[in-house]
Amino acid sequence: MMDITKLTAYETVKRIKSGEIGVKETLLSYLKKIEEREDLIKTFILIDRDRAIKKAEELDQLEHKEGLLFGLPVAIKDNINVYGYEATAGSKILKGYVSLYDASVVESIKRENGIILGKTNCDEFAMGSSTENSAFFPTRNPVNLEYVPGGSSGGSAACVAAEEVAIAIGSDTGGSIREPAAFCGVVGLKPTYGRVSRYGLIAFASSLDVIGPLSKDVRDAALMLNVIAGFDAHDETTVDIKVDDYLDILEGNIKGKKIGVIKEVMDFEVQKELKDALESSIQKLKGEGCEILEISIPYLKYALPSYYIIAPSEASSNLARFDGVRYGYESDGAYLREFYENTRTEGFGDEVKRRILIGTFALSEGYFEDYYLKASKVRRIIEMDFENAFEQVDALILPTTATTAFKLNEKKSPLEMYMTDIFTIPVNLAGLPAISVPAGTDKAGLPVGVQLVGKWFEEALLLRIAHHIEE
Ligand code: GLN
Repeated sequence: MMDITKLTAYETVKRIKSGEIGVKETLLSYLKKIEEREDLIKTFILIDRDRAIKKAEELDQLEHKEGLLFGLPVAIKDNINVYGYEATAGSKILKGYVSLYDASVVESIKRENGIILGKTNCDEFAMGSSTENSAFFPTRNPVNLEYVPGGSSGGSAACVAAEEVAIAIGSDTGGSIREPAAFCGVVGLKPTYGRVSRYGLIAFASSLDVIGPLSKDVRDAALMLNVIAGFDAHDETTVDIKVDDYLDILEGNIKGKKIGVIKEVMDFEVQKELKDALESSIQKLKGEGCEILEISIPYLKYALPSYYIIAPSEASSNLARFDGVRYGYESDGAYLREFYENTRTEGFGDEVKRRILIGTFALSEGYFEDYYLKASKVRRIIEMDFENAFEQVDALILPTTATTAFKLNEKKSPLEMYMTDIFTIPVNLAGLPAISVPAGTDKAGLPVGVQLVGKWFEEALLLRIAHHIEE
C-alpha cells in the first residue's frame, strides 16, 4: 500500500483530484504519523484534529475538486494568525490570546482548499536559530534527535522533514526559513520583501520579516508561492507587480545564465562538507550551461552587526504593545506601571528581553545616530553591493549556513547563536529572494544546504535554478 505521507504536496493534490486518494484518508495518514513521532520531535504547539477532520469530510463531499491545495494538510508557524486558534509566537506573554482573524496567507491557503492542521513551534517572537528559545519546549531535529532543527521556524522545518505534514509555512527575518530548512534537509524559500503579505504575522522586525514555505522539494515551494504571492491591500509593503505561474516556469533550461560565487564567503570558516556541496552544486550549474563568475560583496561581514542593531530596534518598538492589557498573559500589580512591569518581566524570555534592551538603547536620544542610523547606512551599502552584483549575474550561490545542525544546548553565548546566520542575514537586509535546497549530508549524516539568491521579484528564475540543483 502506498504511504501517502511520502508524497510531495504537489503529488498529493494531484492524486486527490484524480480520485486516487481521499482527503480524509490523506489527513488520517498524517495524523497517524504525528501520533507516532510527535512525542519525540515535538514540532507542534497546537493540533486541531477535529476541525481538520471536519474540513476533510466536507471536501470529500464536493463534486468539483477545486483549488491549488485541494485537501492538502498545511502547518502554520505559531507567529501567524489563524482564526480561532491561539497564536503565541512561542511566547508565554501571548498564552491565551486567540486570533480573531486569518492572516492573509492563511486566508489564501483556505481559499485554495488547503486544510490547516496546526501551529508549529518556534523561537519566541522568531528570535533565535534553534527553536530552543520557545517558551514551551524545544523541537528536535527529525534526522537526529540530539540535534536542533534550526530556527526560528524549527517546528515548520521539522514537521515537513518528519513527514508529519507535506508542507508548512514559516517566517524569515534573518534566516528563519532557510537555516532550519538546511538543518532538517528540506527546501526553504524566503520570497522578496513585499512579495507576500505580512498581514497577520506577529511582527518581529517589520522591514525584514517575510513569510514563505518549507517543503519537500522546489516544486512544492513553487506551488505554495503561487498561492501566497501578490499584492494585498492589508499590507502596504506588498508590491503590485506581476506574479508568475511559478509551477509553469520550473522546467525551462538555465543555459547561459550567469551565477555569482561570493568571494568573501570564504573569509569565514565553513565546514568542509558544506564547501564540497557548494562546489558540486556549482559543477551541476556548469553542466547545465551556466556561466560561473566570482563576485564581491565587500560589506558581507558587516551584515550581522548591522542586523543586530536594526532588528532589535524594530522589535523593541513592535513588542511595546504586549503589556498585559490587550493580549494574552497578564500579571498583577497595584499600579498600572507595576502591572506592566510584572507582566513583561514574567511574560518575556531572556532573549526577547535582551533585544528589547538593545533596541531601546539603540533608538534612544544621543545614541540613535551612532547606532541605528549608522546600521541603516551599512544596510544601504550592503544593498548596493548586491545591486552591483546583480548587474553582472542572474543569481548568487553560497552555503546556507557555515555548519550543519548543532546539538541542543551546544551554543553557550548569544553571539555564538547569532553567528549561525552570517550567510542568510545579508539577504534580508537587501530584501532579496533566496532559497535553501538540500545538497547531501555531512559525515554524521546531518543535512547540508546550499543557498541561491535571486534578483528582486525574480522568484521564477530563482526557483528554476534551484530545481536544477536539488538532489
Ligand atoms: N536568528 C535570527 C535572529 O535571531 C533570525 C531569526 C529570524 O529570521 N526570524 O534574529
